[in-house]
Amino acid sequence: MTEKSYTCPYCLRTGGQGKAGRNKTGSQRYRCSRCGGVYTPDPILSGYSESDRFIIAALYIIDQDFFRAHNEFTARALAETFHVSHQTIINWSREYQLEVLIQLRKVRSISQFNSNHLALARYLSFLRQGNTMDVSKFLEKDLSELPTRTKN
Ligand SMILES: [Zn+2]
Repeated sequence: MTEKSYTCPYCLRTGGQGKAGRNKTGSQRYRCSRCGGVYTPDPILSGYSESDRFIIAALYIIDQDFFRAHNEFTARALAETFHVSHQTIINWSREYQLEVLIQLRKVRSISQFNSNHLALARYLSFLRQGNTMDVSKFLEKDLSELPTRTKN
């Protein structure tokens, strides 16, 4: 695998740009070997991809609106788990609320999820990408793929 080559925004050198940890939101930082400048070339929102943010927002929304009594995925709990602020969780939930609710309406056999928020959230995300698959087929596939789903 080849590493994408960045250009230093300070001295404009390309190449010799080494990784320099991550910023608060988890985006990769780089340090220029010539001038020592540190910068974040791709400041992804909170370091999470669009689909990850959707899933995290869905967990929160499902827990709030759907399994009312659960309170398993509070903004605080999610914030702690995903190393973002409590406010970030709230912001994402606002951003994705409508889409999550629209996708939820498509899921007829909610009971098949047995309150498995994460599987349901992944299914919603899957539907949102324009895919269609029966819930039970999705679950079968999803569960068989679970061991490889590790976040780096
Ligand atoms: Zn430089």
